[in-house]
Amino acid sequence: DLLAAPAATTRSEALFARARAVTPGGVNSPVRAFRSVGGTPRFIAKADGAYLTDADGTRYLDYIGSWGPMILGHNHPAVREAVAEALPLGTSYGAPSEREVLLAELVTRLTGAERVRFVSSGTEATMSALRLARGFTGRKYTVKFRGNYHGHADGLLVEAGSGLLTNADTLGAAAPSSAGVPEDYARLTLVSEYNDPAALDALMAARGDEIAAVIFEPVVGNAGVLIPTPDFLAALHRVKDRGALLIADEVMTGFRLSLRGATGLLGLEPDLTCWGKIIGGGLPVGAYGGRAEVMDFVSPQGPVYQAGTLSGNPLAMAAGLATLKTLEADPGLYARLDAYTAALAGGLRAAAQEAGVAISINHVGSMLTAFHQGVPDGSIRTYTDAARSDTAAFAHWFQGLLARGVYWAPSQFESIFVSAAHGDEELGLTLEAAQAAYASLGAS
Ligand code: PMP
Repeated sequence: DLLAAPAATTRSEALFARARAVTPGGVNSPVRAFRSVGGTPRFIAKADGAYLTDADGTRYLDYIGSWGPMILGHNHPAVREAVAEALPLGTSYGAPSEREVLLAELVTRLTGAERVRFVSSGTEATMSALRLARGFTGRKYTVKFRGNYHGHADGLLVEAGSGLLTNADTLGAAAPSSAGVPEDYARLTLVSEYNDPAALDALMAARGDEIAAVIFEPVVGNAGVLIPTPDFLAALHRVKDRGALLIADEVMTGFRLSLRGATGLLGLEPDLTCWGKIIGGGLPVGAYGGRAEVMDFVSPQGPVYQAGTLSGNPLAMAAGLATLKTLEADPGLYARLDAYTAALAGGLRAAAQEAGVAISINHVGSMLTAFHQGVPDGSIRTYTDAARSDTAAFAHWFQGLLARGVYWAPSQFESIFVSAAHGDEELGLTLEAAQAAYASLGAS
């Protein structure tokens, strides 16, 4: 075991109490609060390789990887040195600099996008790409899929209403999923079901000439992992025939599933792509890019306004450049991540079976979700499928792992992220902890 006994959380508890007094819910992003699994969120003091150390000095094997960016592992020497080299040259200029050109050249070369614009988060990337699609097409509606997450811009915080399939007026009509999002905004976002090509075709047949863009996660991480079917991918491509732009949100999957992201793996050709996470190597960066004809609508070249005080920040560019160059220099890396994740899936499957616990695993590349429900592996394809999971069983299992020093994603509806720093030792520790956690759940 990583931990002989559950570790003290005294300091994390004290920090959480202080944090709650000055920050809503004590955290700066909701899932960090452990609401859906219970217990004290660990306040992290440092991170190295595949491990986090919390404020109480306890070491945890990390499967969050900052929710995706840390594909090389924490505190990777190439990234640390690149940031250290940039630091004495100043931390922000508000004027262009060479690293922005270098990273843009690298991203366009690796992904096939002709132009790229850097922003400071994934949210900004998707928000800006949608504005661009509206400016380019002169249309106002956009389409997203239930259970896909694209950041917290107003028009993207919506989920489907119930009149989805019946008539053209209400087809795809959506209601806000957050307070503070006016229905007038939500109305402009139509919602369809992921992996349901017939629903997407019907929506495009009814309203295709009003739709500026269809935005989607090419592999979903935000409902837990969902993998697109070939039929669904074909339907996504058909939206282009209606003059709508296809926007791949690769904030999570970009440079994670391959150097060309999920779209490269799946042979998709989106008009625009959004990036974040890995592209900043753990510093705040997002980006959007695509065909020059479309991207040249962005200011100051074109009429679609988008700006940022810290956009192209020199430290963030340095971290992103070092990360992407390291990935490119190690062609076997993606296969190793794949092999680790496949072995993890196999080990979890065996351990759950042994303990009589029902799980269903979806995994691709270094992303994996073990849904707590008794359907065959790979058969969970939509948010509606995923939502049938036993979240109480997941929470019990999560706590079992955490008590043994393995820090899994604290929600059933998230992916975990394997990094290059996860090796045989980490796999062994994880499976040992998972066996014990499944056994405890099976006995409960
Ligand atoms: N799109 C996807 C697919 C994401 O996973 C996320 C964040 N998890 C975002 C957009 C938003 O990115 P950020 O949190 O950097 O704003």
